[in-house]
Amino acid sequence: MTTSREVRLKRRPIGLPTDADFDLATVEVGPPGPGEVQVKNLYMSVDPYMRGRMTDRPSYVPPFEIGAALQGGAVGEVVASSAEGFEPGDIVSSMLGWREAFTAPASHLQKIETHGLPIQAFLGVAGMPGLTAYVGLTRVAEIKAGDTVFVSAAAGAVGQVACQVARLKGCTVIGSAGGPEKTAFLREIGVDQVIDYKAEPDLKAALKRAAPDGVDVYFDNVGGPHLEAALDRARVNGRFALCGMISVYNSEQPEPGPSNLALVIGRRLRLQGFIVSDHFDLAPSFVDELSGWIKSGQFHYRETVDQGITAAPGAFLKLFNGENTGKMLVKLV
Ligand code: NDP
Repeated sequence: MTTSREVRLKRRPIGLPTDADFDLATVEVGPPGPGEVQVKNLYMSVDPYMRGRMTDRPSYVPPFEIGAALQGGAVGEVVASSAEGFEPGDIVSSMLGWREAFTAPASHLQKIETHGLPIQAFLGVAGMPGLTAYVGLTRVAEIKAGDTVFVSAAAGAVGQVACQVARLKGCTVIGSAGGPEKTAFLREIGVDQVIDYKAEPDLKAALKRAAPDGVDVYFDNVGGPHLEAALDRARVNGRFALCGMISVYNSEQPEPGPSNLALVIGRRLRLQGFIVSDHFDLAPSFVDELSGWIKSGQFHYRETVDQGITAAPGAFLKLFNGENTGKMLVKLV
């Protein structure tokens, strides 16, 4: 028997969550029964979509339960196993984050083949966020060499991959992020034109400066004024991969839609939302391609890492304040 601390949802947040919406509890973790594995989590992920699960409304994933541990991506080490195919020392991923340790059926775990990458990369560039960028650009927006691609929240977990996949596929890349440190990072990773949307709040003018001939593809992480500016600058037959709209996740009232949506018709635009879990078939080819780019020095990425389970709610809140560059992670050991 061992103990584990876990973060629970104490109450449903209204607007921007606060520390008071979360509880820390200590539970006992029993040894594995037949077919089960005991895991010590090493890193856990905090992700913007978790905000949606804190509200009780129908969605593509069920809401978190009040009083229960939150869930989310984690990578950990097997410490005991009564399941075929899992040995102590194996590195596994699961959706049983927000806790230090757990015992669960082996079906809840996937063994990680690291391809020489650090294990926490499988929560970031080589994991769900990285695949989201790859899917959105290659399968949803169907980018091709020569396209001009605009990415919002470009210095975040998904955005940093989207910018570099687009660049490596021969596109011209425009990235928007908040603040000079983030725009400096975007230049480092080869983004052709950068927008600091906090310094240039007239996004339509900023995008006109950055993309005088217009935009073929918009990878939307943000919604709101970014989406409106992208519509304004879209070229005929433009494709919009609608990945996320973090600017509205904490809104207490529905936000108005883009005032210029009618441009979709005359410009023959295609706007398509997508959910990465419908596209996990692309994961092996994506990780192969990505690990090659990283090994050859063509692809760089950042992580923002907070320490310890007690830091997890604060790390989650950083996503909404823009305090992360690259993937926001919590290191648990
Ligand atoms: P990020 O690492 O990009 O972190 C969130 C970033 O969003 C912040 O750092 C901040 O950057 C920016 N941001 C926050 N609030 C605002 C705002 N009001 N206006 C503009 N920017 C804002 O998160 P992820 O990469 O994990 O996620 C990015 C998006 O992708 C999210 O919308 C998420 O929900 C979505 N997503 C969708 C998936 C799918 O399957 N469709 C899967 C995974 C993610 P800055 O400092 O630049 O403002």
